[in-house]
Amino acid sequence: MVRLSLRSSRPHGDRAPSRGTQPSGGPPASAAPMDSSSQSPPAGGDPSEDGAAAELPRLTVTQVEQMKVEARVADIYRVLFDAAPNAKSVMLELWRDQHVEYLTKGLRHLAPSFHVLDANRPWLCYWMVHGLAVLDETLDDDLENDIVDFLSRCQDKHGGYGGGPGQLPHLATSYAAVNTLVTIGSERALSSIKRDNLYKFMLLMKDKSGAFRMHDGGEIDVRACYTAISVASLVNILDDELAKGVGNYIASCQTYEGGIAGEPSAEAHGGYTFCGLAAMVLLNEVEKLDLPSLIGWVAFRQGVECGFQGRTNKLVDGCYSFWQGAAIALAQKLMAGSDEQSKQSQPSKLSSVDDSCGTSSSGLALDYAKIGFDFMKQSNQIGPLFHNIALQQYILLCAQVPEGGLRDKPGKNRDHYHSCYCLSGLSVSQYSAMTGSVSCPLPQHMLGPYSNLLEQIHPLYNVVLEKYEEAYEFFSS
Ligand SMILES: [Zn+2]
Repeated sequence: MVRLSLRSSRPHGDRAPSRGTQPSGGPPASAAPMDSSSQSPPAGGDPSEDGAAAELPRLTVTQVEQMKVEARVADIYRVLFDAAPNAKSVMLELWRDQHVEYLTKGLRHLAPSFHVLDANRPWLCYWMVHGLAVLDETLDDDLENDIVDFLSRCQDKHGGYGGGPGQLPHLATSYAAVNTLVTIGSERALSSIKRDNLYKFMLLMKDKSGAFRMHDGGEIDVRACYTAISVASLVNILDDELAKGVGNYIASCQTYEGGIAGEPSAEAHGGYTFCGLAAMVLLNEVEKLDLPSLIGWVAFRQGVECGFQGRTNKLVDGCYSFWQGAAIALAQKLMAGSDEQSKQSQPSKLSSVDDSCGTSSSGLALDYAKIGFDFMKQSNQIGPLFHNIALQQYILLCAQVPEGGLRDKPGKNRDHYHSCYCLSGLSVSQYSAMTGSVSCPLPQHMLGPYSNLLEQIHPLYNVVLEKYEEAYEFFSS
């Protein structure tokens, strides 16, 4: 899984406690031999007779896990394909009420085992509040006010939000807190964000290279760059000083595979690829990336299970429905047209006034906040660059848990993080086929009943589009 969490140098950190499971996003196991009982003997008789035993095919732990996941998913899909049409429709329903109940309960009470997420409390707010908003569920006023009060206590007096009251301010939890407040959307929520202090905090987190570090003394990476730029854009404090040099750092993290790594010379990764591309759009510096190569890498991360993997040769995971799916959704708006794109190999800029530092070469300041606003006014230039129906199939059949909540993959437990990002990914895939002047997805672009349709999100920030537009008006005035 990927997580923009506190105290983790990599997005694939620990997650909400789930007994008896391995973190899905850990590093691939080294080439350990699989249990010999599950190996097939090579054709041609007993290998020990000709001394070929030493050359028996060896499968890595990851290969064995991959086979198990494929078998589990195939079993699920076989039931769907064999079912009568009416039963199929029921199987493909989004279990809204159950998800709403799971997420709402979590906002009011969490088990003691959640103490391990004590430094991630704004994240817990965001995963649940955003998940509910995507499901078009409104919170009652008291609960909203409690959340606003809690996040205000997480806000450091010198700017930025910590993982809990009194904790060190951190860019990731600042992103989670601001996105939560924007999703709540009340004047009380939006005006609780101390923008002047937030700006000062961000300047302190800016490295001389131009990139950002997560917190005082913390790591510099693409995740820090994205969370800073996304928040600054959202609350309209992004300026040339914050923007300077960030694009060059992100461009230096694009790998030979086409995806973006957390830092230079590291491995391409779905979470960082989304973060890097979204930040580049908000900075108006997408042309510094090799977009066709990035799209190719992301598109080929969708596997036979129909969902996305986060890295090459890793297992499918529901949360990448958003990280990879949204990266593709962003690319669909950036491309001028596939033929033209492949000839030019670079996307067109949203504005022509900036130079290599993302600052104005003509002396005019870029209206950074408007870049995010204008982005959604552009229609998709081309249809889905991934199999959007297949992705919906994975989320609906493999990620949903009957009791409510969504998960990484069959066999895993549900958690709030995966519920949030599976729902965001489902929304992205439902709206990804809209082109031209169409105002809502057509039934043929939706899997299951049309009642599965979720609220549209703004893919640059991962907040519900309507909530984003209200916040944009608020912070523009
Ligand atoms: Zn995951």
